[in-house]
Amino acid sequence: MLTPVRKIFILTLAIALVNSFACAASLENHAASLIKYRFPHGYEIAPLDDLTQPVYSLANRLYQANGILVTDALITDYKKSTHPLVIINDFNNAMAFGAGHIIIGTDYIKTLLGKNKFTNAFDYMTVEGTISHELTHNLKNHANNMYGENELVAERGALELMAKLPEGGYGSYLVRVHRRLNRPAENNKIIKSMNTKGFISISLGTKTQPAADTIYYYSADGTKYNLNRGTEESIYMAGQIADCIARGIMLPENIAVIKNELTEIPFAGDKLLVVKHNSLPNGYIILTSLNGSANDKEKLTLAANIARDYEKRTTLKNNK
Ligand SMILES: [Zn+2]
Repeated sequence: MLTPVRKIFILTLAIALVNSFACAASLENHAASLIKYRFPHGYEIAPLDDLTQPVYSLANRLYQANGILVTDALITDYKKSTHPLVIINDFNNAMAFGAGHIIIGTDYIKTLLGKNKFTNAFDYMTVEGTISHELTHNLKNHANNMYGENELVAERGALELMAKLPEGGYGSYLVRVHRRLNRPAENNKIIKSMNTKGFISISLGTKTQPAADTIYYYSADGTKYNLNRGTEESIYMAGQIADCIARGIMLPENIAVIKNELTEIPFAGDKLLVVKHNSLPNGYIILTSLNGSANDKEKLTLAANIARDYEKRTTLKNNK
């Protein structure tokens, strides 16, 4: 015999369960109507090829790193689940529709790449950022309003989701901003928050030419390093250094060279310059790749100088 308290408990549980299914069904219906509105004549799924395969892999990698469940079933917990990504032909955009639905067009993938195929690590990061942005819209249930403040939330979410991956962080965000910038207001706010007081300053180009154009490191002795040498590689490394400074881990003992065993992200080079720390999701964050070129020495020296300077300054500050 159930006590009245238990009866009420079971009843509440049953109501909650029915409610969550009713809510899930209404989210699903809403998503279906948005998709129907956007594609009144339906759409054509893109074939699995060299362009789409990496995008599916990137999405799965991102879901896995963030503990997002991928399912074909009705989604009852939109904060933790998604449907498999859908890639279609003849669509130059990426959109989230709620209830776990994300659609990306092959034309848009090419727009992000600025070419017809994936060729380098930064291509992968750029697309990963876009998936993260759309995924955030769904996880936060933005399906009714993809504009205004929600865009800033999605951009911040993209940064957070990617930070769970060893190549993710400020650097990959800056690379994406550098490539494709149609949200200068949101990007500017985020980049402002990346400026780690007194150490790094990052600016976002001009209105007509928005890009992560100047990234400086100010050392304690007044030396000013221009970290952005105009290449995506330098923008990435500068951003990653800024990230490690923001996390308080840009210290000499944390800098390491490891074997490049990342198969999903094709960094050119057999070694990676990383910052290792147990507070990081993967135990390390990538600063750049090393490929045996003359540039490698410069990269190592730069990272070491900044780390030593950072250590000196934080020790000084702590002893005050
Ligand atoms: Zn958006």
